[in-house]
Amino acid sequence: MVDIASLPLSSSAPLTVLSEEEHMFQAAAREFAENEIRPHVETMDREGVFNPELLRKFFQQGFMGLAVPEAFGGSGGTFFMANLAIEEFSRVDASAGVVVDVQNTLVNNALERWGNEAQKLQYLPRLVRETVGAYALSEAGSGSDAFSLATRARQDGDCFVLNGRKLWITNAKEAGLFIVFANVNPEFGYKGITAFLIERDTAGFSVGKKEDKLGIRASSTCELILEDCRLPRAAVLGDVGKGYKVAIETLNEGRIGIGAQMLGLARGALQHAVAYAKERKQFGRPIAEFQAIQFQLARLATEVEAARLMVYNAARLKDAGLPFLKEAAMVKYFCSQVAERVASECLEIYGGYGFTKDYPAEKYLRDSKIGKIYEGTSFMQLQTIAKSILG
Ligand SMILES: Cc1cc2nc3c(=O)[nH]c(=O)nc-3n(C[C@H](O)[C@H](O)[C@H](O)COP(=O)(O)OP(=O)(O)OC[C@H]3O[C@@H](n4cnc5c(N)ncnc54)[C@H](O)[C@@H]3O)c2cc1C
Repeated sequence: MVDIASLPLSSSAPLTVLSEEEHMFQAAAREFAENEIRPHVETMDREGVFNPELLRKFFQQGFMGLAVPEAFGGSGGTFFMANLAIEEFSRVDASAGVVVDVQNTLVNNALERWGNEAQKLQYLPRLVRETVGAYALSEAGSGSDAFSLATRARQDGDCFVLNGRKLWITNAKEAGLFIVFANVNPEFGYKGITAFLIERDTAGFSVGKKEDKLGIRASSTCELILEDCRLPRAAVLGDVGKGYKVAIETLNEGRIGIGAQMLGLARGALQHAVAYAKERKQFGRPIAEFQAIQFQLARLATEVEAARLMVYNAARLKDAGLPFLKEAAMVKYFCSQVAERVASECLEIYGGYGFTKDYPAEKYLRDSKIGKIYEGTSFMQLQTIAKSILG
């Protein structure tokens, strides 16, 4: 292992070379995924429920506050390290990956970036220690066109009264704190959008139906209902009318996390398929001895490596304070394609067995589909990339 810090200044470390701290953290996340997450994967997928004891361990081990400064009780790590955890968890279970992803790259991130001191002091230590967070932008009528959201926040003296519904909200079943986007001045269009911090037990706020999904079944996805939900001005995250900035800029970073989730998933699917190809015999020899299978695995491994380089580069750009908008959209677009292709072709390597629930291949494929949909569909990523190259 090379310690980046020991390299001469003139030489840039290869992207996949980790610092000693990153390396140790990756090993710890990998061990946790194997020992703590893997035993629950099948049951959680079948029942569509995230194991509460496992969630408690996420907090205990510091995985829910990875990049939160130590002053707020967090682990004081980097955005890159949060992505290493998302990758390692998703290699074993993409639902576990997205729980950690939403908490770290969306909720904690938005609070750190846009919260005032009082909000950070009130919420960050809780998010690190015990409170799951959720990020609620989408609605039934506004997905890709997120800023046409219909949830309204009417100003009433020094309070805001929220009415509307949110759909598809990850972590909502378990969450204690919600970042909810509503429009304060619809006549100003997206410049009326405002982000609010809402505690689960607030009057007028409730969590509705949980979706029964194709993949990432253990990760909860629910509706939120706001009926005359009265919030003090102190619940506004960032400035009134600047919620669109909170939403866009947080999601730009979140997309790298989804890339890491898809990278981990692809690695997991491939590892299982490689092991199976060495075991399964046809025509008197392991199928891994057929050149067709070897070339298929080699192509998939190459795609996984390309995905890894893109995720690591984008995460390191973000940590270095450099622009990463185009790269993040490319990461999300490319890694979700790689994950689906790798999961699908790995399933075929199992032959008929891959099509059953006796092997993990079908779950990887089901879980991979979401990568092209949430935090902006593939077409939305292409739109961002096209804008940045065409000007
Ligand atoms: C499991 C899951 C978890 C989610 N978690 C969250 C969450 O935590 N918080 C949250 O706020 N949201 C969440 N979402 C919502 C998610 O971000 C949206 O589903 C996504 O943005 C797509 O919106 P939509 O479903 O309304 O599809 P639509 O926007 O209706 O899109 C339908 C199709 O039309 C295409 N399309 C739309 N507009 C254009 C265009 N201009 N050009 C070309 N094609 C276009 C899309 O690419 C897509 O193929 C989640 C969704 C799911 C399924």
